[in-house]
Amino acid sequence: MSINLQTPIDYLKGVGPNRADLLRKELGIHTYQDLINLFPNRYIDRTKYYKINQLQRTSADFQIIGKITAFKEVTQKRGKRLVANFQDDTGTMELVWFRGHKWIRDAIKLNKPYVAFGKVNWFNGKYNMVHPELELLETHEKNVRSAMQPVYPSTEKLINKGITNKALCHIMQQLFMAAGGKFSETLPDNLRSELKLINKQQALLNIHFPKSQELLASAQFRLKFEELFYIQLQLIIKNLSRKSKIKGFPFERVGAYFNSFFKDELPFELTNAQKRVLKEIRADLGSHAQMNRLLQGDVGSGKTIVAFMSMLIALDNGFQACLMAPTEILSVQHFNGLEEWCKHLNINIKILTGSTKTSIRKEIHESLENGELQILIGTHALLEDKVKFKNLGLAIIDEQHRFGVAQRSKLWHKNTSPPHILVMTATPIPRTLAMSVYGDLDISVINELPPGRKAIKTVHRYDKNRLNVFRFIKDEISKGRQVYVVYPLIQESEKMDYKDLMDGYESLSRDFPMPDYQISIVHGKMKPEDKDYEMQRFIKGETQIMVATTVIEVGVNVPNASVMIIESAERFGLSQLHQLRGRVGRGVEQSYCILMTGYKLSNDSKTRLETMVKTNDGFKIAEADLKLRGPGDIMGTQQSGVLNLKIADLMKDSHILQYARYHAKNILKTDPQLTLEKNSVIMHTYKQLSKYKNIWNYIS
Ligand code: ADP
Ligand code: MG
Repeated sequence: MSINLQTPIDYLKGVGPNRADLLRKELGIHTYQDLINLFPNRYIDRTKYYKINQLQRTSADFQIIGKITAFKEVTQKRGKRLVANFQDDTGTMELVWFRGHKWIRDAIKLNKPYVAFGKVNWFNGKYNMVHPELELLETHEKNVRSAMQPVYPSTEKLINKGITNKALCHIMQQLFMAAGGKFSETLPDNLRSELKLINKQQALLNIHFPKSQELLASAQFRLKFEELFYIQLQLIIKNLSRKSKIKGFPFERVGAYFNSFFKDELPFELTNAQKRVLKEIRADLGSHAQMNRLLQGDVGSGKTIVAFMSMLIALDNGFQACLMAPTEILSVQHFNGLEEWCKHLNINIKILTGSTKTSIRKEIHESLENGELQILIGTHALLEDKVKFKNLGLAIIDEQHRFGVAQRSKLWHKNTSPPHILVMTATPIPRTLAMSVYGDLDISVINELPPGRKAIKTVHRYDKNRLNVFRFIKDEISKGRQVYVVYPLIQESEKMDYKDLMDGYESLSRDFPMPDYQISIVHGKMKPEDKDYEMQRFIKGETQIMVATTVIEVGVNVPNASVMIIESAERFGLSQLHQLRGRVGRGVEQSYCILMTGYKLSNDSKTRLETMVKTNDGFKIAEADLKLRGPGDIMGTQQSGVLNLKIADLMKDSHILQYARYHAKNILKTDPQLTLEKNSVIMHTYKQLSKYKNIWNYIS
């Protein structure tokens, strides 16, 4: 018989109401279950003893046997410190206390063997240990202890209130005793033996009190697998149930629109990756399930044409389609490009944004409702309640990271039955992250750039070298190229940022005077029509330099622009830098990205700049970004809870994640309802996990 793990923590021996309160507030531990899932951050190996002459100046913890021969008090700036002379047969060192002097002097017996444990510092030509863990050697030898000691997560408050690591270990031991060491198994035997996973009891015992490094490794693997397995299981079940519950419109035909575009209008040969992804989308659209697909492709990989051809399939089946982009500029750009393609096909296409005039807006609303309008491009304006389609069959969202999940679902309700959804993102999400966060979406990847692209050359230059950079810009302009100069715009320091932008614009105007040079400027405070005017001048090649804030970040396509200067590059995040760089390198010419900074750089900034200089690969950049910022930040606070993992680490354990996903998929393939006897443990655990949200609330 095993204990009920949902028992409130207050009931555990050694945990009174005060401690229970602290555990709840500081570590979120409410129940036995929460406690057992409080996994150590690291372990201390206390199997080894060091001699004083073997000590090293590392940050490791050392364990030394020796005797305290004398105490002295040393006056320092504030208060006094107590210093003990500690020696063994190889040398002497000092033990130091800043608090509790009287208690220590009373408790410690001079010239008796002690075990001192802690970090060692090198100070005034001697080793010392501050606030060591001290234990009489004879007590130390009597204590049964595991070789490896766990170090649990903690907070200052816990320690101040006496719940030290030692106390936590003790509380954990109490739980093991209360449970008699018995914990129910949560993975079926057949799976465990197939994957050689140790059982739950062994795993829990050895994660908290490892008997050896080997057993610790097995315990960690088993528990990480389990955690990731059940997350994947839940995501896949969600996806499957959506597919079975939500009927999509089957687009069975590929008809005239698609075929004549493919035969007569295709402006270039599709890359193999584009073809493959189109096939995946076609298969989805043709099935009776609603498509919910994420299309990932680096900047410039050619997602737009894939989106357009998918829309043609919707039109071929008598449905409408829409494309939503995060900014006005990008919507306009999409519209201009797509309108060109639509002309020859006789397709009715319109654009709707915040700045669309009321009269035109009305026309759009009407023609949408009566079905005359076939394709609608636009911004958030598409989400307004007034926008009603006759039969929206496919909704495409460009640059997903700018839209929340809520908006994705809003598009669903534009119809009696939800349209197929294609989400496109140019900020590659590391595979592991995508699997966890978008595990309920199917994923397509364009992993190939159109042919003939030259890799963008990226360099980092200090502000001091600006004159050289300007000379370089002049050279490029004289060859007929165009140049972006981008300034950061951070909301908190908006005023200063605008000043930087305007100062920069002025100094550029001085160095690049009219009439030889024309400069465009675009920033967020301009009226949409002014922005558009300036943008258009640059697109048409009437201006050679575009000075802008990050409004141009997403999607703008000016193939003749070959130089991207990013000012104060240290203030941009990696994915933003990569996005900006993606504005160049779109034509046949060699393109350049120049990252400008001052001399003072934080370590993280340096890493970001080095990463940019080193690679053009969006997936590699995304991985580096994940390492720098952690998953929560990347997905935005809204979704940061998603990855509140207890033991697994998405970066380090990506192989376990893939392994877990593979097995979860496999099991659901043969037993989608988990009704087979051999899967009953999985079903039971899955239900428990869904019931007790406490460890499950990272799945929205
Ligand atoms: P993104 O994936 O960043 O949205 P776009 O769809 O804007 O990329 O495409 C970038 C550029 O590459 C566009 O100018 C587009 O016309 C061009 N392009 C796309 N696919 C191909 C291809 N297969 N061959 C040549 N050029 C292509
Ligand atoms: Mg795009």
